[in-house]
Amino acid sequence: MFDSLSTKLTGVFSSLRSRGKINSSDIENTCADIRSALLESDVALSVVDSFIDLIREKALAALPNLQSGSNQAQAIFEIINVELIEILGGAARRIRFAKNPPTVIMLAGLQGAGKTTLAGKLAKFYLDQGDTPLLVASDLQRPNAVTQLQVVGESVGVPVFAPEPGNGVGDPVKVAEQALVFAKSKLYNMIIVDTAGRLGVDQELMQQAIDIRNAVKPDEILFVVDAMIGQDSVRTAQAFQEGVGFDGVVLTKLDGDARGGAALSIAKLTGLPIMFSSNGEKLTDFDIFYPERMASRILGMGDVATLAEQAKKALDTESSAKMEEKFARGDDFTLEDFLEQLEAMSKMGSMSKLLGMLPGAGAMKKQIENFDESEIVRTKSIVQSMTPLERQDPKVLNGSRRARIALGAGRKVQDVNSLVDKFSAAQKMMRQMRNSGGMPPAMAQSMGMPAGMGAGPISSRKSQAPAKKKSKSGNPAKRAAEERG
Ligand code: GDP
Repeated sequence: MFDSLSTKLTGVFSSLRSRGKINSSDIENTCADIRSALLESDVALSVVDSFIDLIREKALAALPNLQSGSNQAQAIFEIINVELIEILGGAARRIRFAKNPPTVIMLAGLQGAGKTTLAGKLAKFYLDQGDTPLLVASDLQRPNAVTQLQVVGESVGVPVFAPEPGNGVGDPVKVAEQALVFAKSKLYNMIIVDTAGRLGVDQELMQQAIDIRNAVKPDEILFVVDAMIGQDSVRTAQAFQEGVGFDGVVLTKLDGDARGGAALSIAKLTGLPIMFSSNGEKLTDFDIFYPERMASRILGMGDVATLAEQAKKALDTESSAKMEEKFARGDDFTLEDFLEQLEAMSKMGSMSKLLGMLPGAGAMKKQIENFDESEIVRTKSIVQSMTPLERQDPKVLNGSRRARIALGAGRKVQDVNSLVDKFSAAQKMMRQMRNSGGMPPAMAQSMGMPAGMGAGPISSRKSQAPAKKKSKSGNPAKRAAEERG
């Protein structure tokens, strides 16, 4: 969502870095460029102006103490980074859990903001952390909201308290009250109350939300807002703040291509933190909102921290340990391992979203958008069409085996050949890495690789490995060429 802002800001910084010595008029120009980039991205005017005044003041004050050259630009960049983190809410805040469970989380916001979807995402998030959430269907207004919550609950394995059919029937306040009693008696440690929204702010909507709030006294009221609706998101947030009051904001639809800057103003204008963000329709398209990571993304430095976290989550500890053992034994990286890695990659979610977190991603927008997500599925289907022996030892892949695999995967023989060639290159790289001592542990881990692959020199382990004969290519055409050679 913030690609174009990020691309513009990256341009501003690279022009600042290219200056030999920075003077006060360079700072003025930089401030003017940042101001217009933020305004074009729809960040609220008052937020932009106070931000620019602050960075101008701090940068001018710092200037006499800065050495010339790129350090000056870096120091100014750092001032901007710190202030941007502040605008986005400063340090991340987590949900406050009730001293006496259940913790009550109430979701409020306009219809279509994404509350019901978010209820499921939150329930899954806390379930995965070992909590025992109960979803509560207090949106009895929007057609099918109750059924939608039941479907969402079922797909994440969280029970739904839904005594009323909805579609205009039932009292949402009573449902919330009964849910609280039910949760206490059944020892759920958290309830997530989905409430009704209207298409615009109105008194009836506010009153219903206030009544639910008074009845269940939430530990957290989360205001859910669609980041695609521009300045309306700010106005709605302020109206809810005055009407119901809330404790934190959840931005949804950050995967959209609207300018999105308005939503970034909400934390500053309400003085309340953005706690979560939602960036897609799938239940896994959900993140804790870290202001510093978002600032990093906006300033074109990517979000490597989130990327590393997702990689770690995807490669479960059991398969990491297995890979590490294999590697330590000196065993080769096989197509079976490759398949496991591909599966882990699919678990990490959409590749274009992952690539979007890399530094400089804004500039590669087109290529990232054009990334063919189904390539991973196609590659997986080729490996899955191989027998265990073939996966273990691709050298046995003669012409007829390759033809059978291609047929099984619904691909061409050339696709099989190209995969085997790419795999052999990867295998060779793995061997070289092992022989030369591997990559640094932190880097390996951040790439989701098992610790052993990054751990220091493995020469002692290498000596345990049996000496390997010079391999012959399994690609018939290549093998013939090798033999001729
Ligand atoms: P509610 O009326 O507030 O309960 O909104 P819903 O949860 O029903 O969401 C409204 C629509 O937005 C649905 O079609 C959702 O699938 C979609 N939606 C929700 N969150 C996101 C998101 O983060 N990204 C995208 N692209 N769509 C979303």
